[in-house]
Amino acid sequence: MSTRGKPRVLLMHPILDPGYSILSEAAEVAGYPADRPLDEASIREAAEGCVGIVSQLIDPIRETVLSTPGLKIVSNVAVGFDNIDVPAATAHQVMVTNTPGVLDDTTADFAFTLLMTTARRVVEADHFTRQGRFRGWAIDMMLGTDIFGATLGIIGIGRIGRGVAHRAKGFNMRVLYYDPHPLPPDAEQQLGAARVDLNRLLAESDFVSVHVPLTPETQHMLSTPQFERMKRSAIVINTSRGPVVDEAALVEALTAKKIAGAGLDVYEREPAVHPGLLPMTNVVLAPHIASATVRTRSEMSAMAARNMATAVRGGRPPNLLNPEVKR
Ligand code: NAD
Repeated sequence: MSTRGKPRVLLMHPILDPGYSILSEAAEVAGYPADRPLDEASIREAAEGCVGIVSQLIDPIRETVLSTPGLKIVSNVAVGFDNIDVPAATAHQVMVTNTPGVLDDTTADFAFTLLMTTARRVVEADHFTRQGRFRGWAIDMMLGTDIFGATLGIIGIGRIGRGVAHRAKGFNMRVLYYDPHPLPPDAEQQLGAARVDLNRLLAESDFVSVHVPLTPETQHMLSTPQFERMKRSAIVINTSRGPVVDEAALVEALTAKKIAGAGLDVYEREPAVHPGLLPMTNVVLAPHIASATVRTRSEMSAMAARNMATAVRGGRPPNLLNPEVKR
């Protein structure tokens, strides 16, 4: 696998310290050339002779890559792993790991940031002020939506969804959630969250925040029929994955004023953003930065590196997504 004794690992993109040090102690690290396309054939070619790949959510890791001879592990630097075909990895006896937990609070903070920024028109107000258009206080200037006491609908009450519910409590919000897996009664009580069906959540929420993984079931989970059930004053927040929301239907719903606004961190065809969203002042757009703090990105890097280091040394990595792999 390597001329220098250490197993060789393909690092698709730079990671932060201490991740790189952990990785290079355990393996010979081969960097993926920055100018090389991120398609499966190119990744497969670069992965030849490697026992592991440290991937990120922009890297398609499917059959072509996973069938590389000698590949033992793919360590994704993200909690979401929709860029990896996990069943194909299992079929090829390749372990897959992710980085759960370390980004929950940072991502929940950002979902709440988008909620508040959209409700209180902060980006629009900032532009207005910089452009010299603030010529004096006015009673009807930049009127927004109240957050305190409003109803928040959380779709997917996993680690991050629970973090958002926890923050909502401090804002005296009524929290509804929809998830096939109910919270234990004590957690429901502690968060003050009530489980409802999706239609009721859509009809009663002032804010709808999405925190599901991207799967065939959740793709376009919010589309025209769901927007039509929402209040006309509703604001949609998406920090999960772009394809969970039907972006064309969202643009249509915003244009037709079926809903009032949106705060988005993720997009259906990243890095492309639906052109219809760009001129909308009632929409706040972020470039997929919900987990982007120095501490969290460093911890994600370290966690991914530890998963890889454990596997290349012959162990079972702590965040193994397919424990049925037998090696
Ligand atoms: P998690 O697995 O802890 O929680 C996901 C929840 O969604 C679970 O409770 C699950 O039961 C629920 N769920 C699954 N399918 C559902 C459905 N059809 N309807 C309703 N609920 C459903 O995951 P997490 O750590 O909270 O992360 C959630 C997702 O957020 C990740 O998969 C990732 O894609 C995304 N994420 C994005 C960023 C970002 O930078 N924007 C950062 C972190 C995570």
